[in-house]
Amino acid sequence: MSALAGIDQALWDISGKHYGVPSYNLMGGATRDKIRTYAHWGIDDLSEDGLEKARERLDWLQKSGGYTAFKSGPSGKWRAHEPPSKIDEFVKAAYTMREWVGDDVDLYFDFHGKMTPALAIEICNEIKGMRPGFVEEPIPQENQDALKVVSEAVSFPIATGERLLSRWEFREIFEANAVAIIQPDVSHCGGMSELRKIGSMAEAYYIHTAPHCAIGPVALSACLQVDACTPNFFIQEQVDAGLGNGLLQNDWVVKNGYINLPTGPGLGIEIDEEAACRNIDPSVDELGGELWLHEDGSVADW
Ligand SMILES: [Mg+2]
Repeated sequence: MSALAGIDQALWDISGKHYGVPSYNLMGGATRDKIRTYAHWGIDDLSEDGLEKARERLDWLQKSGGYTAFKSGPSGKWRAHEPPSKIDEFVKAAYTMREWVGDDVDLYFDFHGKMTPALAIEICNEIKGMRPGFVEEPIPQENQDALKVVSEAVSFPIATGERLLSRWEFREIFEANAVAIIQPDVSHCGGMSELRKIGSMAEAYYIHTAPHCAIGPVALSACLQVDACTPNFFIQEQVDAGLGNGLLQNDWVVKNGYINLPTGPGLGIEIDEEAACRNIDPSVDELGGELWLHEDGSVADW
């Protein structure tokens, strides 16, 4: 599906450039003037050093992009259950984040599918007082009935979908009414065409889209085109490097937490081909070569 997505995105870019219009104009036209986006920020560590780093990044994000929505961990490895100290540290970090940003900002948490249903529900109930915008992947994504159990026990929105592919895998989530928000990844779910169709299916269930995008600037550009023409779009994920990272001739700009509606033809970008060639380093391992294992040698979720 990732290979199909690449071809699909290229075809939308080519056809948009052929007709001289943004791709969203060929997909039904824009339904909004700007696209809300969130940044990755959180307090991972309550030590003095950890708090200082978190404060610095928050200041930078608020100054550079005026973000009004952020997403973070819990980071680290989580087993089927953990002692109170580990749970309490995350809960305290979540409430501290709320204190820092105030009540006009949205805070989301990504459990990354590493909790059991019982632990996810326990932690969600602990943080509900600071009003999270959503918790993402509280548990793994393969069992929509288990996801529904979590959703029904939690008073705020649950999100999932970055590892689900095509309309057919999302269908089961929709029919179970298992979540409030879906997060298809445009570069893995089958491409812009598939993302738009998944969004339409979701609309009938009053489910909103918050497309996953942790890859890079071409994927983000493809997301923005679909976000523009999807009525039930909620918010767009992006990582700092996704805004351009020197790979685009013009980086995307975040202002007051929004990216302006793209106006250029196709995906609205021109790639700096020379810079892209210089930047390719397939030997880079994002996890720094560390084996992601529990203390007993069993495999942990990142
Ligand atoms: Mg995620």
